Order: sequence, then C-alpha cells, then structure tokens
Amino acid sequence: MLNARLRLPVLCFLSSVLWVASATAKVTALVGGRLIDGWGGAPVNHSVILIEGERIKAVGTVESLPVPAGAEVIDCRGMSILPGLWDCHVHTMLLGHSDYTHWDATYKPDRLEKDVMPAAAHQLLNAGITSAVDLGAPLAASINVRDRIARGEIPGPTLYVSGPFIQHAPYPGTEEFRWGVSGAADARAKVKKLADAGVNVIKLIDQDQMTGEEVEAVVAEAHAHKLPVVAHAHRPDEIRIGLKYGVDRFEHTGLATAPEYPADIMASIQERTAKMALGPLYWCPTIEGFFNYDYQVGNPLHIEDPAWRQFVPADIADDIAGSLKNPGWLAYYQITPLRAKTSASKFAQLQKTGLVLLIGTDSGIPMKFHNQSTWRELDIWVNKLGVDPMTAIRAATYWPAVSMKVDGDYGTIQAGKFADIIAVKGDVLRYIDLLQRVDLVIKHGQRYK
Ligand SMILES: [Zn+2]
Repeated sequence: MLNARLRLPVLCFLSSVLWVASATAKVTALVGGRLIDGWGGAPVNHSVILIEGERIKAVGTVESLPVPAGAEVIDCRGMSILPGLWDCHVHTMLLGHSDYTHWDATYKPDRLEKDVMPAAAHQLLNAGITSAVDLGAPLAASINVRDRIARGEIPGPTLYVSGPFIQHAPYPGTEEFRWGVSGAADARAKVKKLADAGVNVIKLIDQDQMTGEEVEAVVAEAHAHKLPVVAHAHRPDEIRIGLKYGVDRFEHTGLATAPEYPADIMASIQERTAKMALGPLYWCPTIEGFFNYDYQVGNPLHIEDPAWRQFVPADIADDIAGSLKNPGWLAYYQITPLRAKTSASKFAQLQKTGLVLLIGTDSGIPMKFHNQSTWRELDIWVNKLGVDPMTAIRAATYWPAVSMKVDGDYGTIQAGKFADIIAVKGDVLRYIDLLQRVDLVIKHGQRYK
C-alpha cells in the first residue's frame, strides 16, 4: 500500500513514463532467428526484424540491420521465425463437443458470443494462428466477436467471418446460423443482408439442392459486394454447380469414400484454373482428421490433455469431456477410416490441377480442439501427403492472405506489413510438427506469448 504522501509523486512519475513511451514509439527487435518470410525463398539466417507499433519497420540480418538503441530485444537464436499462421476454415462456435444437436440446443447465440467464441479465438491465437476464416455462426455474434478482437478488447486472431451459412434449407434447430433461400430474389436479399452487416466472406453449402438461379444470385450478389464465395465440395454436384456459377473456393476433399474425382470434374477444374484473369481457384481440403482418427481413438492423449480446456468455462469444458468418453463410438466418425483410404488420392488429384491448396482444419468439430488443429493439418500435409514444408507453410501464410485480398497487410514478414509473427525453437522446415509448441506469438505488434 502506498501512503498518501508518496502516492502523488509516484503517479506523476508513471504518467511521465507513459508520455515518453507514446512520444517515441517503442521498437521491438527479434534478433538472430532463422527467418522464413512467406515468399518461399531460402530462409534468412541471423535475421533481424524491427517492429514499431503495429507494423514491421525493417527486416535484415545482424550484419546488415543495426538494432536501434533502446529497442526491446527478443533473442531468437536457434528459432524458426514465420509469419503468423492462418487457419482458413475454423468454427469458433464449436469446441469439439461430439453432439451437435445437444450443442445447438444448449449454447444459444448469447452464450456463444460471450463464452464459446472468445475461448476458441484465444486458443487459436495461443497456438500461433494470427488470422482465421470463421465459417458458419450466428450473424451478430460473429461480427461482435470479430470486432471486439480487432479493437483489442479480447485476444484472438484477426477474424474473417461468414456469419450464417447460405443453403437450401436449415436443418431443424440450426436457424440462427443457417439461412435457407427460396428463389433468386430471396438469395440476393439474404446475401445483401450479410454484406450490409459486414461479413467478410459468403459460405455456401448444399448448393446442389438449390436452383441454378439461386446459386447464380448468391455468387453475383456476393461478388457485387466484393465478397468471396466459399462452397462445400462434399458431393460431385456441389462441385459441378460451384464451378459453373463461379465460386472462389471449395471446402473439404469431399466425395465420401469415393477414390477419385470424376473426369468431368477434373476437366472443369482445369478449365477454371486455366483462366488467368480470374485469379487462382482455392481449395481447402481439411484432410487431417482422416489420417489421425484411428491413432487418436487408440491414443486419446489429446483429449486427456487439459490444454484444450484453457479459456473455456468449466461447465462447458465438462460437457465436452463427457461427450468424448468413448472416442471410438462417435457416429460422426464411423465412416472416417474408409475415407482415409481414399483422401490421399483425391488430394493428389487436386495438386495436379494447378489450384491453390490452403490450410484449413474444420477446427471445433467433434474431438478437434482449437489449440491443436492447425499444426496437425500441416503435419499431415508434410509427413503423410508429401507436400514440401515450404509449400505447406505458404498455404498457411502467403496464400490465405492473397485469397482474402489482404496481402498488402498480411501473409509475409516484410517492412510495412502488420507484425504478425510467430517463432518456434528448432527447424520447422525439417520438423514441421514443432509448430505444436509455438514459443512466440506477436499479432499487430503486440506480444501474446
Ligand atoms: Zn467446417
């Protein structure tokens, strides 16, 4: 306790310190790490990155770029330094509970906004995810959580939100986050309502159950508002119709247990990727779960590890844990081992078409927790699907930023961009799974970890 006589001088001292701090913006220097800047070139050894305020001020090496006097130095020797990761497909309204019917009945939009989505966002950021595309959630909750994060009121990645799915008809009990459309005029009106509310992307699903006019209206209205359309690729006709009407991105490897995409779909994809003027076609395969399911059922350490409870209110965490007591008994996953046998061949087909694959995870679905989804997807791409680590990292940094048209500010580590930077001890180009324990997380110049 300060006595009254001391209190005033101390306050004067503190306010003068704060004044000095704001008059000359603080510089933070990350010194000595091995920089993977997101452009795909050779890593830069002994790097120096200077951060001033929210942005990167300069990038160089210990030989070429002096650290200014007074800078706060973070010793990064022995570490890999990367742009903050993106996860292009998360569900912040879900936290891994196995029963969607129970979840939707129990956690209404106010609880999602107050407790669930902030917990998911905080876990993602802690895992090194500084940007995420959040697909499918109640509209007001999505906008409010995104904006509270952007204002610095709660921790989380920069979010790009879709709000509710656009589809033929919502499944019973999901009307808050699934909007059905009936006719082209209604489709336009619903997309306009989302655009006017400020969403960043339109999520289209079950488009094979909609009329062509409705799908066309969804895409046209979204594009009129400069919003990309991302669409499910679960069934062949979802892909065919999505390609026909010009969606910008597909989600999931899809096609259930079928071993490959039919020839006409491959031809349509190639016709689309040949159109330079349209820019790349993106695909977010969300493939990791197929390969890890059997292992995780037999070795459910990731469920036992209390790390996924972090930031989650105890009543919700207990509810989730109770739903995962028998991880091998979840109806949701019974077909997964069969899908695992055919997803690698579909992934390989997509690779050959020249589209741009993005890292996204479906984080939040049963048994998949936000604190560990993204690194697992990277790990499977590299260690099971043979993607080279640099390509995998760029699918989680550079390309997502380009796909959301924010690459002027995000996606690489270079002067002028927002300082979204992570670092991890060791060589991630050799051992990608080091990303499961990110040591340093900086978002918009602020250190969170
Ligand atoms: Zn999803």
